[in-house]
Order: sequence, then structure tokens, then C-alpha cells
Amino acid sequence: FNNELQRAEKMEIISEMAASVAHEVRNPLQVTRGFLQLIAEKEHNSDKVYMNMALDELDRASNIITDFLTFAKPEVGKVTTLNLLNEFIHIEGILVPMVNLQGGRISVHIPNDLYIRGNSSKFKQAFINIIKNSIEALHGDGDIQIWAHKENGKVSIHIKDNGEGMDKEALSRLGEPYFSTKTKGTGLGLMVTFRIIEVMEGEVHFTSEKGVGTEAIISFPQVNEPES
Ligand code: ADP
Ligand code: MG
Repeated sequence: FNNELQRAEKMEIISEMAASVAHEVRNPLQVTRGFLQLIAEKEHNSDKVYMNMALDELDRASNIITDFLTFAKPEVGKVTTLNLLNEFIHIEGILVPMVNLQGGRISVHIPNDLYIRGNSSKFKQAFINIIKNSIEALHGDGDIQIWAHKENGKVSIHIKDNGEGMDKEALSRLGEPYFSTKTKGTGLGLMVTFRIIEVMEGEVHFTSEKGVGTEAIISFPQVNEPES
């Protein structure tokens, strides 16, 4: 028992450190990227090829941090009662610029009386990973719909896109480490996401059809509004 407790404490420290390292490393990466971009854009630059390779590698490092480590501010694994709408307002703020860049639309319909238990940063991380995949799957007239409801003591969240979709084989490999069909993918996003949802006692279910789109349904035990 004592060993278990020590292990849990160590894990907590490790995850806290990982989150702050991610936070600290992201900034210099961004700055370096900016300078490299400036140099790469100079016209008579014979080293353009190398510059672009360096930019690609920087992006790869940055993607790993985004997919693997905590996205939001480093925070000890504090578990609180989360208001779903409140969490999604933050998530939407982060993702809308990305959707716009892809020329797609995103609509979010979440009632304000839904509560679940979990760590706010980790929750955001999980849903940013899922929605980012939807955004990356969009083409042409892209549309992402997000909505939530409660039923039988559970809160269910739907994320539905009209993107490229997946075949059965890809569907069965979701969450497998390093499974990615993207040139700049890490294949770590859903692995991390599934783990976070599992720790929150949630369940994930994906349905998809190639060329039509994908829907993820994630449900968590419903809890009462905290007394203020
Ligand atoms: P990555 O995004 O780095 O490739 P993920 O673990 O996030 O890694 O996703 C793994 C793979 O699952 C993706 O490469 C893609 O093939 C597939 N996938 C996940 N979500 C979707 C989606 N909404 N639409 C189509 N394919 C998806
Ligand atoms: Mg991903």
C-alpha cells in the first residue's frame, strides 16, 4: 500500500514536471521558428532547402508537445467539478483560428447545467486532440458539430465532422502509439486522449465512414453542480 502511494506521488511529480518542461520548451521553439522563417523567406537564399527542413523538424517537435503533453498551463493533477460549457468555451477559443485557417465551420451547443469530475487541463488536452483531428480531416466545405446532453446519469459529448473519414482498419487502430496517416502526424494524440478519458472514468466510441465523416461520442459519469 505504502509503495502504491509513493508510486502515485512520483507519477504526480513526473507529470507536473513534464507539463512545465513542455511549457518552457514551447516558447524558444516558437521564437526559433520565427527567425528561421524570416531567413527562409529571403529571396536569394541558396540554403532554402535546409531552412525548410529545419522548419519541418521544429514543427514536429512542437506537434509532439501539443499531442503528448499538457496543452494548457502546467497544473498539478488537481481534480475538480468541471462545468462542461465553461471548458468548451476555452477549447473553442483555442481551436476556432485553426478551423478558420482550414476554411471550415465549427458549431458548439452545450447546455450550461452539465457537470463532470476531472482535471481541467487534461480534459482540454483530450478534447483538443480529438477536435484537432477533425479539423485536419476537413476538406472543401468543412463542418464540425459539437453538442452534449445528459442521459441515465451520464454526460455524453458528440464531436461530428464531415471530413475524410476512416476505413475499418484505421478505426480499429485508433489510440495505438505512432499510428498516423499524416505526413506531420505524431500518432500520439489519441493514445494520450484515451488515457485521460479512462482516468476520468469515461468511455469513447468512434464511428466513421470513408469519404463521409467521423463521429466521436465520449461519456462521463454525471455529477451535481458544486455548492458555492
Ligand atoms: P495524428 O493526428 O498525429 O496522426 P492521432 O492519434 O491524433 O495522431 O490520430 C491517429 C490517426 O487517426 C490519424 O492519423 C488519422 O488517420 C485518424 N483519425 C483520427 N481522428 C480522425 C477523424 N476525425 N477523421 C479522420 N481520421 C481520423
Ligand atoms: Mg492528432
